[in-house]
Amino acid sequence: MALFLHPFLKYKIMKALVYYGPRDVRISEMPDAKIEEPTDVLVKITTTNICGSDLHMYEGRTDMEKGRIFGHENLGVVVEIGKAVSQIKKGDMVCMPFNIGCGHCKNCEAGLTGFCLTMNPDPKMAGAAYGFAGMGPYSGGQAEYLRVPYGDFNCLKLPDDAIEKETDYVMLSDIFPTGYHATELAGVKPGDSVVIYGAGPVGLMAAHSAAIKGASKIMVVDNHPDRLKLAEEMGAIAIDFSKTSAVDQVLELTKGNGADRGCECVGYQCCDKHGAEHSNATMNELVQAVKATGSIGVVGVFVKKDPKSKEELQKKGHMDFDFGTFWMKGQRMATGQANVKAYNRQLCELISSGKANPSRIISHELALDEAPEAYKHFDARDKGWTKVILKPGKAAKKADKKHQKEHSSAD
Ligand code: NAD
Ligand code: ZN
Repeated sequence: MALFLHPFLKYKIMKALVYYGPRDVRISEMPDAKIEEPTDVLVKITTTNICGSDLHMYEGRTDMEKGRIFGHENLGVVVEIGKAVSQIKKGDMVCMPFNIGCGHCKNCEAGLTGFCLTMNPDPKMAGAAYGFAGMGPYSGGQAEYLRVPYGDFNCLKLPDDAIEKETDYVMLSDIFPTGYHATELAGVKPGDSVVIYGAGPVGLMAAHSAAIKGASKIMVVDNHPDRLKLAEEMGAIAIDFSKTSAVDQVLELTKGNGADRGCECVGYQCCDKHGAEHSNATMNELVQAVKATGSIGVVGVFVKKDPKSKEELQKKGHMDFDFGTFWMKGQRMATGQANVKAYNRQLCELISSGKANPSRIISHELALDEAPEAYKHFDARDKGWTKVILKPGKAAKKADKKHQKEHSSAD
C-alpha cells in the first residue's frame, strides 16, 4: 500500500510486480485491486509464488503485454466481498486456483475449470488465469491485493491451521494440483512405475503425487543436482540427463520395458545437456521411455506460436514428434492446463492431515520488493533456487530466509 498518501487515498495505490519487457520486471505502484462486480472478492495477499510459467513470460517468449501484474499462485485474507457473494466472508483465509472459472459454463460444470468457456474474452481461447499471457485481462497477485472474480467459486476457504501451514496451502493454487494432474493425465495407479521429466516445482509435485498414489517406482529426469536431490528426498530415483541417456536409464530400471506412465513437466523450453532448446526433446524421449500401451500426461506448457524460437517448426507451435513410434507402441497421451478446482479440496485435506507437505520444495521466502532479484535467480535456475514464495506484507530486510541456507548447501 502507498502509506505515504493522504489517508483518504490510502486504498488507491498498491505495490505490485509489473512486467516492463523481456527480463525486466519491477516493483511499481499500480491502481489498487478493487471490487468491480457484485460477485467479486477482494483478497489481501499474504503469500504469492513465482512459477515456472511466469518465466516463459519473463523471458519474453509469450505475447504478455507490458504493464501487467504477474502472479497466479495466490493466498491471502478476504478484506471485502461483493454484494452477491454469500459463502466467502471477510477475514477468511483463502487460496485461489490459478485458473479463473465462471462456475456455470459447460466445462466448469464438468470440473474442467482450466478450460472455462466464458472468462476469457478471446473467443478462440478456453481458460482464464491471473496475470497470464493469453488468458484474459486479469491482474496477478504478486501484489498487495487481488481481485477474485466469482469469489464464491474461485476461493478455497482454508482450514483452521491455515496460518500454521500457509506455505503448504499456497501450493494448492497451482503446482501441487498441477503435479497431481500430470499423474491423473498419465493414469498413474498403485503399483505403477512412473518416469517424470523435469525436477522443477511441477515435476517434484508430480513425484510427490505419484508417491501418494502408491507408485512402485518413480524416476525423475533433470540435469540440476540440487533439484534431483529433492526428488530423491521424495523417494524418487534421480536421473541426470547430462551424465547419461535418460531413456537408457529408464529402460534399465524397468527391465527393458519402459515405465508404465510418463509425465512431461518441462514444456516447450526443454533443453539438451548443453543447454540448447529443442522443443521436442522431452516428448520424444517419453515415447521411448514409456512402455508399449503406456500413457503420458503432459502438463509442461507448449504454445500455439513461439516466434522467438530458433526452430522453424516451433515458431509456428509445431513439433517434430515421433508419432510413428507413439502409434506403434499403442501409447496414449493427454495434455493441458490443470483443472485446479478438481483436486484442491482433496489435496487440502492431505495437507491438513499431514499426509502431504508440498512446502518442502520451497527454497526462498522473500519480501515482494525482492521479487525482481528472485526472478533473475529462478530464471537462471541458479543452484538452490527451487521455489520462491513472496510475502507482500514483509519488509525486504525482515524476509524470512530460513530455507535459503539449507538449500544453497544442497548437492
Ligand atoms: P521450471 O522451469 O522451474 O522447471 C523445469 C525443469 O525442467 C528444470 O529443472 C529444467 O532443468 C528441467 N529440464 C529442462 N530440459 C529438460 C529435459 N530435456 N529433460 C528433463 N528436464 C529438463 O518450471 P516448473 O515451475 O517446474 O514448471 C514446469 C512446466 O510446467 C513449465 O512449462 C510450466 O509453464 C508448466 N506448468 C503447467 C501448468 C499446467 O496447468 N499445465 C501449471 C504450472 C506450470
Ligand atoms: Zn504456476
